[in-house]
Amino acid sequence: MPPKIVPTDRKILMTSDLPAALEDLIACPTCDALYKAEIPKAGARMACKRCHRVLISPGRRAGAKIILLALAAFGLVMGAVFQPFLSIKRFWITRDATLVETALAFEGPLLILSIAMLALVILLPVTRLLLTVYVLSPLVLNKPALPFARVAFRIAETLRPWSMAEIFVLGAAIALIKIVDLAHVSLGPAVWLFGGFVILLALQNTLMCRWSVWKALDDA
Ligand SMILES: [Zn+2]
Repeated sequence: MPPKIVPTDRKILMTSDLPAALEDLIACPTCDALYKAEIPKAGARMACKRCHRVLISPGRRAGAKIILLALAAFGLVMGAVFQPFLSIKRFWITRDATLVETALAFEGPLLILSIAMLALVILLPVTRLLLTVYVLSPLVLNKPALPFARVAFRIAETLRPWSMAEIFVLGAAIALIKIVDLAHVSLGPAVWLFGGFVILLALQNTLMCRWSVWKALDDA
């Protein structure tokens, strides 16, 4: 017989209701193990003992490096959008296409799909970059956080799983291997710019310590 569920008037605990010690706890996002958050010594990281996921990894001047990487990544992706991505030659016809032109070349449901793809591959990562710069810039300069900085950082973190630039690179590489037999394909400058953009995004993601940013926002 299943256990009987008895409704209780349980109150949702707010952060302000918690004693100071509980506020200092950190939960592992992978395995839910709970730890007392302690800022590791310079160059060290705090990782989950159970699953080894890095929980806190404050880096020296990580904020400034993240901002520079974000700005560089923004420059690269803007170049990648407007430069030719591919040049396809079949017999005597050569055709250059930028990423946007390629996406808009479809019709009907495929057009919706390709616009959604562009959003996931370019718009979302760029939005995250801009939000990150907005949140981190005042913190790096030891200034008070800008209005709605917490909301901005929460949005940037919510969008993280949806930002799929690296998956696009994999997909494009597989598609290229398929069409190489059908026509002569040469890579445009946008391919290299986009590749650089994906590498900078990954670097920026590695440097980012979410716990440190939230703590800095709380302290600011
Ligand atoms: Zn864990």
